[in-house]
Amino acid sequence: MSTTIGWAGLGNMGNAIVQNLIKNGCVVNVYNRTKEKEEELVRAGAKSQESLQQLVHNSPVIFTMVSDDEAVKEVYSGEQGLLSHSPGGKIFVDMSTVSPHTSQYLADVCNKSQNQFIEAPVSGSVKPAQDGTLIIMAAGHAEAYGKVKPIFDIIGKLSLYLGDSGAGSSAKLAINYFLALNLQGLAETVLFAQNNGIKTEHMLTIINEGALANGITKGKAPSILNKEFPAAFALKHLAKDLRLADQQGLQTPLFQPVLHSFQQALQNGLGEEDVMAIFKYLQENKTSHPAVTNIYPDDNVSDYAN
Ligand code: NAP
Repeated sequence: MSTTIGWAGLGNMGNAIVQNLIKNGCVVNVYNRTKEKEEELVRAGAKSQESLQQLVHNSPVIFTMVSDDEAVKEVYSGEQGLLSHSPGGKIFVDMSTVSPHTSQYLADVCNKSQNQFIEAPVSGSVKPAQDGTLIIMAAGHAEAYGKVKPIFDIIGKLSLYLGDSGAGSSAKLAINYFLALNLQGLAETVLFAQNNGIKTEHMLTIINEGALANGITKGKAPSILNKEFPAAFALKHLAKDLRLADQQGLQTPLFQPVLHSFQQALQNGLGEEDVMAIFKYLQENKTSHPAVTNIYPDDNVSDYAN
């Protein structure tokens, strides 16, 4: 890859993706607000940039991957932001999970400053980021997508171009709702079995040897067994994604209970732990959702016993 890649945001994901880009021979300029997070990558060959402006100046294509809507707006449009001194003619790619409105806003401000913008949120966590096997949900400037596609081919095993600005973020919120359902379902199932005397390791084996196994049930099993939840994907970020889905009009029967559950876990101080810490929250707070109590008509209880 001959294009020099600029990268802003070296959290769990940015760090892992840049490691993979360097491993594949890319030249990468890096910027992170907290400079210590650049050190390991600089040792691996990345070039540290003093400011976002310097990053833009030295890189024709600039990727961003930061926490949330506020952070991404600050990084692009803040006083010292990416666009503050952009000469135009650059391609910006945002891989953060943000609302479709924010992606449209970023496309707009990039367009107004004669730059091209693609949103490209990803499905997959730190391990797929290290291995270059993420799924990329791209949208926005079609011509810029074509130019950046060779970089996406290193970052992910699949990139899909989904259409106009906002479409990538909409797809990302949908897949993360499914992720939340998986995590909540796995936690509830194991706890239900536990409460009826089934060992956790046995229940996880039953799940993972059968047709219901998936990357989440397999990948998160060690965390549940060891009761350790170091963040690959911090719970605060999934709670944020569910709030964005709420704002986006998600109104299905399971959504509000799942949103409530992750919000409660966040308020109980689990935001910095991994998303699978929803298990810890449910274990420590024996909750039942009001909507699912007393659903059996009194006179027909026995009909449901089996
Ligand atoms: P993270 O580990 O919490 O890192 C957040 C990054 O954002 C850090 O580099 C942080 O800089 C930077 N940041 C936050 N606010 C900023 C601001 N105002 N100005 C400049 N930089 C700012 O997050 P992550 O897990 O890498 O996730 C990043 C994004 O990808 C999120 O939107 C998340 O929802 C999404 N995502 C995550 C995963 C996953 O598995 N982790 C998977 C798919 C998508 P500092 O180091 O200075 O704090």
